[in-house]
Amino acid sequence: MKLLSYRGRDGLDRVGVVADGVVREVSPERAAGPAGLSPMRRLIAASGSPAGEVPLADGPGVPLDEVRVLPPVPDPTKIVAAPVNYVDHQAEMSQSVHVGSLGVFLKAPSSLIGAGDVVRLPYTDRRFDQEGELAVVIGRTARGVPAADALSHVFGYTCLLDITMRGGEDRSTRKSFDTFTPMGPWLVTPDEVGPLETLRLTCSVNGTLRQDADVRDLIWDVPALIEYVSSVMTLHPGDVISTGTPAGVGAINDGDSVTAAVTRVGELTVGVSAASAVTCPTLGAGAGPVPPAELTPVRARTAN
Ligand code: MN
Repeated sequence: MKLLSYRGRDGLDRVGVVADGVVREVSPERAAGPAGLSPMRRLIAASGSPAGEVPLADGPGVPLDEVRVLPPVPDPTKIVAAPVNYVDHQAEMSQSVHVGSLGVFLKAPSSLIGAGDVVRLPYTDRRFDQEGELAVVIGRTARGVPAADALSHVFGYTCLLDITMRGGEDRSTRKSFDTFTPMGPWLVTPDEVGPLETLRLTCSVNGTLRQDADVRDLIWDVPALIEYVSSVMTLHPGDVISTGTPAGVGAINDGDSVTAAVTRVGELTVGVSAASAVTCPTLGAGAGPVPPAELTPVRARTAN
């Protein structure tokens, strides 16, 4: 099941099920719940994990290309992200450490945008990179969850772009500018995603492939991440864990189009604009982890 957060023609935010290019609204009663939460957060809280059947509202539905797509969870209490969680990315960044010594970091939820939206680069004089990632959406409260029980806390999976300013500022600054977390287009329930170790993650910029990796090459896989993160902080329904990016990060610039895709999960495309960029007020340029200066050509592999 593909679950979409969207804004209807009447300006109200809804959650729906996508099939064959049509969005059918989830029964509003099912998405009822605490005021102030998005319909998706309310649906997740009401459904638990796994999601099971979701009742649909009456009516024929709306073509997908006629709705404004929102981030699948527009209002998570937090976005947790893994730094350096693929060996090949560790190598390209010349890092001696990975997630196993760094732990995780937080991205501001206010940095979220949906599929088809635009990443706004804030500065004219800094480098910004794309990082394609597989993200996990939590379905029920997780605290101190062992890896063996971790996947029963997952509501679904989605694509995420961890847009990053390179340099020496703290990660929470460099990765939390408004629009720096494109997510979507929808979330897919685990029954439809199937075995995570067979997923392939790709990321392209202007149609040129930059990243192509197998999710089984994660240093800490999804259960290990949930075990670790839930040992640090309580995960609430709708919280997001982004699993990290493989090799192939590179600069993005005004006018670019960036696409992250994961097998059986979906394809997330956003634009890039530097229209409102100004001079950077902080002095981190030239410091911090060193990204590859040049893009390494990636050849598309046969899917497996
Ligand atoms: Mn990342």
